[in-house]
Amino acid sequence: MTDLSNVSESAPSESKYVCVNCMKPVESLYTEYSKEVIRITECSKCKKIADKYIEYDTVLIFNDLFLQYSAAYRHLLLNTNFESYARIGMLFILADAYNKWILRQTHLQSARVYDLEWHFYEALIKSSLECFTYLLTSYFLSLYIIGKNSKMHPFKFFVGRSVVGFFGNIFVVFSIIWHLHEYESYRLLMKLFIFISQIQVQKTLCPSLTTTMCVIIVMISIAARVGIGFIFSYFISTFSTI
Ligand SMILES: [Zn+2]
Repeated sequence: MTDLSNVSESAPSESKYVCVNCMKPVESLYTEYSKEVIRITECSKCKKIADKYIEYDTVLIFNDLFLQYSAAYRHLLLNTNFESYARIGMLFILADAYNKWILRQTHLQSARVYDLEWHFYEALIKSSLECFTYLLTSYFLSLYIIGKNSKMHPFKFFVGRSVVGFFGNIFVVFSIIWHLHEYESYRLLMKLFIFISQIQVQKTLCPSLTTTMCVIIVMISIAARVGIGFIFSYFISTFSTI
């Protein structure tokens, strides 16, 4: 069972929490009468348990995130006080850089140790630039579309939680370990997985937008990410002598 002390006390909306089924704001996720007696809150709109994940083990929550359940994303992003988004963001960037580095090495016949190290730094800078470009584009695009009349999460809240959309990068590392990355079909599958995760995150953070609009925002943000990566690679290939 999830430690209930991890449940958020300060989600940036009028109500502290949301129902993970229908997104209706709720005042609390449970009522604690004593250490042994806890009553889980029922949503007044959909009549279901507002957030069933507060009773779930972390592994089961991760399992539902992997299966792309919207409710699991809503629980993680809106109903918990998980704060290590910067750390997991760096982990996802490292995983992406490792993937880029490995793919580049497979196309090189031989390389000196110094070159290998430099190539990894290049991949790391490129992955960081691409990730930040994606996050900034999705935030400012969402802000522009939602406008000042509707509610929008603060910059830090939105950008921090948006890194969850990149968690598929971890599976890319596993695919390298298991030599699955050599298959184009598997790489495409991983890209599709990350794309769907990013849409889920966008929908969770911008519930006032339609799914179509969220898909468009994600696609434009990906295009911006790819664009900055292309510019970086062009700059490196033009000015680097390695
Ligand atoms: Zn509900």
